[in-house]
Amino acid sequence: MSEASIAPEKIWEGTAVSTGVAHAVVHVMKDHFDEPDATPIAPEEVESDLARWHRALEVTQTEIEALQTAMSGEECSAEADIFEAHVLILNDNSIRKQVEKTVREQLICVDAVYYRLMCKHMDALRGLSDSYLRERFLDIKDVTHRVMRHLRGEMLDHPMFEVPVIIVAHDLTPSDTVQLDRTKVLGFAIEMGSANSHAAIIARSLSLPAVVRMHNICDELHSGDSVLLDGDEGLLIRNPSAATLAKYRSREAQSDAREDALHTTRHQPAITSDGSTVMVSANAEFIEEMAAIRDSGAEHVGLFRTEFLHLEDPEGSEDWLADCYTRAVQAMTPGEVIFRTLDLGGDKMDPRMTFEAEPNPFLGWRGIRASLGRKDLFRRQLRALLRASAHGRIGIMFPMVSCVEEVREARALLDECAAELLHEKVPIGDDIAIGAMIEIPSAAVSADLIASEVDFFSLGTNDLIQYTIAVDRLNERVASLYQPTHPAVLRLIRMTVDAARVAGIRVCICGEMASDVELTPLLVGLGLDELSVATSQVPRVKHAIRQLNAADCRTLTEEVMSLGCTSTGLDKCRAMANARYPELFE
Ligand code: PEP
Ligand code: MG
Repeated sequence: MSEASIAPEKIWEGTAVSTGVAHAVVHVMKDHFDEPDATPIAPEEVESDLARWHRALEVTQTEIEALQTAMSGEECSAEADIFEAHVLILNDNSIRKQVEKTVREQLICVDAVYYRLMCKHMDALRGLSDSYLRERFLDIKDVTHRVMRHLRGEMLDHPMFEVPVIIVAHDLTPSDTVQLDRTKVLGFAIEMGSANSHAAIIARSLSLPAVVRMHNICDELHSGDSVLLDGDEGLLIRNPSAATLAKYRSREAQSDAREDALHTTRHQPAITSDGSTVMVSANAEFIEEMAAIRDSGAEHVGLFRTEFLHLEDPEGSEDWLADCYTRAVQAMTPGEVIFRTLDLGGDKMDPRMTFEAEPNPFLGWRGIRASLGRKDLFRRQLRALLRASAHGRIGIMFPMVSCVEEVREARALLDECAAELLHEKVPIGDDIAIGAMIEIPSAAVSADLIASEVDFFSLGTNDLIQYTIAVDRLNERVASLYQPTHPAVLRLIRMTVDAARVAGIRVCICGEMASDVELTPLLVGLGLDELSVATSQVPRVKHAIRQLNAADCRTLTEEVMSLGCTSTGLDKCRAMANARYPELFE
């Protein structure tokens, strides 16, 4: 039992980014580490310090060998070879000798000596153009991280949990999130983060409570501490008292009653009181979400973020991908699944794709740019998607489109892949909708030009807002400037909807803005055909639409857009939402 479990109740406050309450033990992920201090050691401590390091090397070797055995089936022989290389690095005699010599001569703790030596090797390889040597850089990094974790006696990257846990972390990248045993994760409490980071988006997709900006929790909490995480109020309570637990139980009973009312109507269509239908679909990141999505009342999947499957297995074969996509499609039949092609980059980095850190990743090699630059990966994905299209209705959309040429190039590659598959006599569907995400201002402004190249638009407002207002979606310091109702954002949405109307194609919003029921009157007024939202929000958004009158919403939208003031516009929209469906804000 940890010390903290007998300590009195303690409350931390942060920013709530995904609703719900969870009560469980925490698992503290210390997956990043700063450079170890060069702590001096006494001559008599040298041997025990080196023995600690040797133990870490041994445990690391056992761990790598276990991975190697697990991967030694025929299909994974390439991965097994990688681990072979890791064992060689671990046992490199010159490294071992040099570490021992330095510790003995300089009397500095082994953590710092080993870490610095490995960094020297990495620095020598970083940025080299030879792809074999660049791979060695990643191998050394991987081995170093494993040894450092064991030196510190910490958990490994992909912990399997015996019991349900609340994850506590300094920061959680999308690739950290995909490695977690999600069947056991009940919530996230993170020191960094923002509402628009992908960790927060995933929490909302999985309907798990999440709170970010919780300062110092990694230092103060220990794995095994009992906590209550409140994703509605943004609180983390260690060792909640009996009174606190009772308060939360009664709150839960009230909210269950409210959710029950929404639950009964969730499969009914979302039609406004004057007869306008708005399709409500769900966003997904993982195949295991499909059952919950169907149960939520979503008519289809409006955005499947394929990056997360990629991060689960960056080397995954075309067959594996085709099988994953097919399972998603079959689970949603007769509904459609709109797959977004890889949107790596920004905060969803695959270290295997980029070896040099970019100064501005969100303005860099991201989305369709990276796919067109890595045609091998892009072809693999497009072929897998085409193969899945034989099993149900799919759409394919391209992320981060900034101009017409990108769409043309991507479509040409898709046509080539389709021709190849037909030649190989592999069946593919004959009715695949092709779309462009409109999430860069240049795409919104030239939406009329892009419209003739595609069958639908999907507005990625998470990025559209950040690029329009020049406000980093992950940076809490400027979070107050991140305003979906900024007049410039609304104008860009309107331009996109107008271009879609003229071209006769459908237009959806799949950014987080679509999940916010305070904004539903504005989105109905802007004339969106579809809102693709977090699964947990589907019944709420559908309910909100049914309480609205589209003509009133259009009048409201005209008024808001003529005001030119973000906050007054938001107040007007909130006022309509509160008047028409107050039950959603209780
Ligand atoms: C968006 O930008 O709104 C979007 C849906 O994509 P992502 O959040 O994955 O960038
Ligand atoms: Mg985006």
